[in-house]
Amino acid sequence: MITPTLNYVTSVFFDVRVKDVLPEVMSGLGISRPMLITDPGLKDLGILDRLGVDVEAVYDQVQTNPTEASAMAALAVYVDNGCDGCVGIGGGSSMDLAKVVALLVGHNPPLCQYAFIHGGVKKINPSLMPPVVAVPTTAGSGSEVGRAALVSLDTGDKLALISSALVPKAAVCDPDLTLSMPVGLTAATGMDAISHCIETYCSPRFNPIAESIAIDGLVRGWKNIRKATADGTDRNARREMLMAALAGGLTFQKGLGAVHSLSHALGAFVKKPLHHGALNAIFLPHVVRFNLKDCRQKLQIIAGRLHLDSADELPDVLAELVLELGLPTCLKELGVTAEDLQPFAAKALADHCSATNPRAMSIDDCMMLYDAAL
Ligand SMILES: [Zn+2]
Repeated sequence: MITPTLNYVTSVFFDVRVKDVLPEVMSGLGISRPMLITDPGLKDLGILDRLGVDVEAVYDQVQTNPTEASAMAALAVYVDNGCDGCVGIGGGSSMDLAKVVALLVGHNPPLCQYAFIHGGVKKINPSLMPPVVAVPTTAGSGSEVGRAALVSLDTGDKLALISSALVPKAAVCDPDLTLSMPVGLTAATGMDAISHCIETYCSPRFNPIAESIAIDGLVRGWKNIRKATADGTDRNARREMLMAALAGGLTFQKGLGAVHSLSHALGAFVKKPLHHGALNAIFLPHVVRFNLKDCRQKLQIIAGRLHLDSADELPDVLAELVLELGLPTCLKELGVTAEDLQPFAAKALADHCSATNPRAMSIDDCMMLYDAAL
C-alpha cells in the first residue's frame, strides 16, 4: 500500500483547557455519546470530572501495555451504551486502546490479523471506524497524533496496528493535565518522546520536514526533561515536554529504529509489565552507540544542537541523563534476566521499526543489544 510522505491530519488543540475545548471538538465530529477510555489511577485522580463532558460510558481499566482482552471488554461497554465515538484520556496505553476499540466497532476479532507485520493495513477500512479523540495526560507517546496502536495480543506478541485510519481526528493537549504526573512517569515518558525524536531523525527515509520537527522536539525535550522531572509544577516545562511529545508523534511516521524494536518486543514480557518509556531510556544509549558509524553525520548534527562537541559523546551523555532522572539504567533493575531475553531477539528483528534503523540489524545484533542493556 502506498502511504504519503507527509500526512498530518489531526486537528491539534494545544495549550488549551480541556473543558473549554473538548465538548465542541466532539460535537464537531458528530460524537454525542462518547466512550471515555482511561486508566484506574487517572480515574481516582478525578480526571473524568475535568473534561466538561457527560460521563456515561466509561472503560477505566486500561493497564500499561493494553491487551486484546481489555479491548474486547471496552468494546462491550461501547456497544452496550450505543456510543458513537471514542475519547482516549491518559498516556499511550489509553489512547492506543481508544483506537483499537474504534477499530473493533466495525472489524471482527482477532486483532492479530490487523497487525502491520501480518499485512493488516489492507484489512482496515476507515469508513467502518467511529472518530477517535485523544487527550494526553503524559508527555511522551505521541499517540495523540500517531497512526499506530500497540497491543499485547492473545497470541502473546506485542504488535503494532498501523493505519492512517487509526490517527485520532482531534488531539486536545492541555499541559495542566500533565501537572500531576508522578516523577518516574514524567522521566520515562519524557525519554520516550526524546527517543522518538532521535530515532525518527536518524531514520534513513527522505523526509526533511519531519526531521526539522524532530530536531525541534528533541531540543525542547532535552532542555526541559530535567526541569519537568525535578519540579512537576513547572508549567512551562510541562508545556514544552508536551510539545516535544507531539513533535515525536508527528514525525515518527518517518520510521523509528532499534530502540523501539527492542522495547516493543520486550513489552510483551509476561512476568512483569515493563514501561515502554523506561525500556527506551535503557536501550537508547546502546542503540546510538551501535548506529554511530552508519549515522555519524546526523548524530553529529544532534550533538551540535545539544551543545556537545562530538557525536561520540552522545551515548554516554544519554546514559548520564537516564541515571540523573532516576530511571533504571539496565534491564536487571527491571527484574529481567539473561534467560528471559532469549525469545525476544527474533521478535525485535521482526518488529516494524527495524526496517528504518540506520544500521542494518541481524538477530545477533538484537541479542547483543539486549545483552549490553542487561
Ligand atoms: Zn515510543
